[in-house]
Amino acid sequence: MSVAEPWGSIVERAKVLIVDDEPATRGAVAHALRRRFDVLGAGDGDEALALLAAHEVAVVLCDQRLPGLSGEHLVTEIRQRHPDVVRLLVTGHYDDTAFAHAVNHGQIFGFLRKPWNEDELERTIDSAVAWRRLRQENARIGRELEASNERLTRLNAELRHFTHAVAHDLKEPLRTIQAFSQFLTDDLGDRVDEDGAQYLSGIGRCTGHLMLLVDDLLRLSELENVPMRIAETPLDEVFAQVRSLLHSAVEDRGGALRVATSMPVLQGDSGRLVTLFQNLVANGLKFNTAPIPTVEVTACAIDSDCVEIAVRDNGIGIPAEHQTRIFNIFHRLHRRSEYPGTGAGLAIVRKIVEAHRGSVHVDSAEGEGAVFRVRLPLRHTA
Ligand code: ADP
Repeated sequence: MSVAEPWGSIVERAKVLIVDDEPATRGAVAHALRRRFDVLGAGDGDEALALLAAHEVAVVLCDQRLPGLSGEHLVTEIRQRHPDVVRLLVTGHYDDTAFAHAVNHGQIFGFLRKPWNEDELERTIDSAVAWRRLRQENARIGRELEASNERLTRLNAELRHFTHAVAHDLKEPLRTIQAFSQFLTDDLGDRVDEDGAQYLSGIGRCTGHLMLLVDDLLRLSELENVPMRIAETPLDEVFAQVRSLLHSAVEDRGGALRVATSMPVLQGDSGRLVTLFQNLVANGLKFNTAPIPTVEVTACAIDSDCVEIAVRDNGIGIPAEHQTRIFNIFHRLHRRSEYPGTGAGLAIVRKIVEAHRGSVHVDSAEGEGAVFRVRLPLRHTA
């Protein structure tokens, strides 16, 4: 049976089971609750358990003194067989041991002292029913959340797989186009006119760029697919590798890379950390028109668990409105003819930082250089 609540929705009438060997008490409870609840009555534990097996009961109100199974043992039994039924114990006099048993083993929602008045009884049943609904709603939301998480994890995995497959499958035909356009250039030599030569070099340029894009996509999907290899990683060593990888870039630009002495040691994937800082330092040198393009790296402790590595350059800077978007894949602020690149570097940086449970942001103003601040925890958590 259902009843219309004041706000108009229809809610199921909750069933309440009163377990008491006194028919008069059962009758009084049924009378007090009849307007709002369906009331069932049982004279002892066995009868109560039989009714619980046959009906969807919301709340059981159980006298402590019962023939056979005592109230505290009955609520324990009910908890095991029907954990969703909210349990209340009714006591005529306070019995420490029985009460402790009902709380610890029966996990009762509360207890009522005899003699109760009708208001108190109705209020107690109301809160027990509301608590049960909340608990059920919580469990439903938890199940939905779990299902959404599973769906999301599956979709993410499919997307990663798709990106990897697309990038991988694009490489082969691209390589063929590149090779054929090179054959054409070599074989036709002087026989192509100026337009023809331009078309050929256009094909070569575009396929070369596509190759770089596909490689970056593969690198990104690798970051997702290859597990991290966490070890104690001295950042001194990371920057020694960055310096050696960028040696010719620094020389070619007539620039400088200054790294603070005694950098911290943290738990991380050293290969990924090298890629992260190599991208930031390379950008600091590339987006730079200063006479001596300079990148400075410093470290400071944020607290006992976290360090901040600042990569500062004296380059062209980044307008405020782009400072968040540049971390999105393929977001670039300049034409390729001005500054070469694919726009994947900072997306890779962000992915690596997030895999280390860190954060990255940039402080900059146009024309005034940029500082990329990378915060990393000293200890890795999976
Ligand atoms: P790419 O270097 O291939 O262009 P990134 O993802 O590394 O791609 O960078 C995205 C964009 O952010 C760059 O194209 C550039 O416009 C801007 N940017 C990145 N680093 C800097 C920097 N240090 N100074 C100025 N602009 C930068």
